[in-house]
Amino acid sequence: MPFVSIRCYAELNDFLPPNQGSITFHLSLPPDTALKDIADKIGIPFDLIDLVLVNNKPVGLSHHLEENDRIALYPVFENFDISSVTKVRDHPLRQPKFILDVHLGKLANHLRMFGFDTLYQNNWTKESLITISRNDNRILLSRSKSLLDIESLTHGYLIINTDIHSQLVEVLEWLDLYNLASPFTRCIECNSKLQLVEKEAILSRIPQRVKDWCNEYQHCSSCNRIYWQGSQYQYMNAFVQSTLKEQPHPDYPNK
Ligand SMILES: [Zn+2]
Repeated sequence: MPFVSIRCYAELNDFLPPNQGSITFHLSLPPDTALKDIADKIGIPFDLIDLVLVNNKPVGLSHHLEENDRIALYPVFENFDISSVTKVRDHPLRQPKFILDVHLGKLANHLRMFGFDTLYQNNWTKESLITISRNDNRILLSRSKSLLDIESLTHGYLIINTDIHSQLVEVLEWLDLYNLASPFTRCIECNSKLQLVEKEAILSRIPQRVKDWCNEYQHCSSCNRIYWQGSQYQYMNAFVQSTLKEQPHPDYPNK
């Protein structure tokens, strides 16, 4: 009868009795128990779990447990890019999403440029920011400690830096987002996903000097903007590529 130890991380502990939360606890299991069979036993819905490590190695739900296995269960990740190690499913369940306070408009545009789902409006109140953050599972980025200290906020991060490049690197490093970036896929102005559009469909909206050389265009169906790879794109792309190249080599989460 395998005797295993289990440790749950972050919000997964909310499902456990108080005496089991945030500590290692032990279970005796019938022989030949697969990982998926322990869901009922510990009462955590497996669709909330994004990564399972057994003895520090990522495994799938069909993995069979053995005596003295050490099982670590991680929720849908916000603090690490686990896309290279996750075995539970092909991709992390939830991509990090953001909402930014009134002082971070430039950072909002840049996060969108890197492809991250980022809400920003310069007239949102503190209450609105927190409500949207909670209802939409968005991480609130702010330069205000007092805002982030509000108890009802569950996911927030204090931006320390003041210049845009350092702010961006701060967020990319904090959440290990480098491998999740998909630059130029989102409207910088309104955050919607961009779609390729036929040149012929938008001919009247393209300046002649652009029309002459450019055949590929993207369209934002929300705000109706059109994007093409002109000189501003070249400049922004150089910025994006050089920033992504600065990626440190993050250690695998080993808490
Ligand atoms: Zn737009």
